[in-house]
Amino acid sequence: MRLILFFLLLFTLSTYSQNNYPQDYFAPPLEVPLVLAGTFAELRSNHFHSGLDIKTQQREGLKVLASADGFVSRIKVSHYGYGKALYITHPNGYTTVYAHLQKFSPEIEAYVKKQQYTKESFEIELFPKAGDLLVTKGNMVAYSGNTGGSAGPHLHFEIRDKNEHPINPMLFGINVKDSTPPFVKAVYAYPIEKHSHVNHSNSKQKLRLIPLQNGDYTVENIEAYGKIGIGIITNDRQDHAPNKNGVDNIQTFFNGSKSYELDFSTFSFDETSHLNRLIDYQHYKEEKERIQKLFNDENPLSILKPSYNDGYLTIKDSTSSVFKIKVNDYKNNPSWITLEIKGVKNDSIKPETKKPTPYFIKADQNINLKEGKFSVDIYKDTFYDDFYMDFEVHNDTLILHDDILPVKKNISISYDVSNFSDTDKSKLYIANVLGYSKYPAYISSSLKGDLLTGRAKNLGTYALALDTIPPTISSKNVRDKQWISNYRFLKIKIDDTPSGISNYRATVNGKWILMEYDYKTKTLTHDFNDGIVTDTKNNLKLIVTDNVGNSSTFEILFYRK
Ligand SMILES: [Zn+2]
Repeated sequence: MRLILFFLLLFTLSTYSQNNYPQDYFAPPLEVPLVLAGTFAELRSNHFHSGLDIKTQQREGLKVLASADGFVSRIKVSHYGYGKALYITHPNGYTTVYAHLQKFSPEIEAYVKKQQYTKESFEIELFPKAGDLLVTKGNMVAYSGNTGGSAGPHLHFEIRDKNEHPINPMLFGINVKDSTPPFVKAVYAYPIEKHSHVNHSNSKQKLRLIPLQNGDYTVENIEAYGKIGIGIITNDRQDHAPNKNGVDNIQTFFNGSKSYELDFSTFSFDETSHLNRLIDYQHYKEEKERIQKLFNDENPLSILKPSYNDGYLTIKDSTSSVFKIKVNDYKNNPSWITLEIKGVKNDSIKPETKKPTPYFIKADQNINLKEGKFSVDIYKDTFYDDFYMDFEVHNDTLILHDDILPVKKNISISYDVSNFSDTDKSKLYIANVLGYSKYPAYISSSLKGDLLTGRAKNLGTYALALDTIPPTISSKNVRDKQWISNYRFLKIKIDDTPSGISNYRATVNGKWILMEYDYKTKTLTHDFNDGIVTDTKNNLKLIVTDNVGNSSTFEILFYRK
């Protein structure tokens, strides 16, 4: 019996090529060759990318095919994020996701529109039952697009397991050509402790990177002492595209022994924001480039594999060590970076000290800070480390440190608005003041009695802002009293400053009509093929409301036969 089990196990193992994921089960979701604008788990703003971004030849409307047999288990239409997205669940338990779609296949589109008209909303989330919308591998389920947060036409494609963990589709045999190893833009060294130093400094050092003829790299020899960590800026290019995409795996070796590993095969959505701890967040905010730390400063991310000394190097006086970094892409093309480190103790180096402020934040405690009309609530475990916070209030402006530390939870910012008239009170909001933007950015705010409270997702400067200006509405393709019998679409432009658009509602002769909103072009579009507009004389009424409740109404007549 035991022997049979053994052979069974052996057989099971040998049917998979390099991993436990089914091979050749999932087919590519497009008919065009797969060229990538983004790879799995590459570093994005506040998250790891959860799929492949497949290029669609700079256009929309390519056929999107079901990657395998299954049923549509979820459909989500949203203004932002994934835009129009389709989820297909397969008999083997995996789910494939297709996002930023232009529209769905006629059958699915009819199913979605029926629900949109019933609920009178463009944004919608549906969970069809297993038998409702069956799909066959290779059949068209949608058309590729550029909806939601997409910055150009492409298809976002994901494979998730039963636990909703996204997995690199390339591990299922989805094949993308990649013949060049990752490239390295920069290597940094971080003195970790008070008396550590690198090249006779106690602060972060950019090391001089020297590309070698064979594609590998070396770094100009460094002198160091004490506990130090290394960081790297690295990207990978696939064939046929210039996009700087993510890498698959990074390992480090200290004097021949493996000391650290980052593996980007899978992760969970719960942990994705810990990316901000993996990168040097301050460097990212200041320089707009992402240094990945090759040491684990108490980061719970599962892509960090248990490692010797958490990846830190301890350099002793009068020693010489070799540190190597190996960066692999998804085709296992490696790039090696070699650093030679001389241990040289230097007692004359002054440790870099952080200037104390009266506001010492202990990461494991709830904190309330009050000054003037502002009150700030920080919940425990909002920050990774204890630190001295810069906290200042100047009239209606709150300085809540610089946005240089990652934040795990929303920070609650309240302002006492009792001095304002009742009319003004309702038009106030909390804004994040960003140096580069013209208008202070609205953050989700609510008024309870005389207390206006906003939820801040990051540190930085905040201010009380007032919005009394209603949204603007203008027709893009129809004039008042115009005959438009041959028009397929009705297009209206809407905009709002400074707080932004919250919602809109359009009716024709009193009947709700579906208008799709694209925030990037500020356009609302109605498709006359929906068959709702059937009268000759039509009165269009559109009401648009901004984030503090100012609203505008737009009315025109148009004729069709
Ligand atoms: Zn994507």
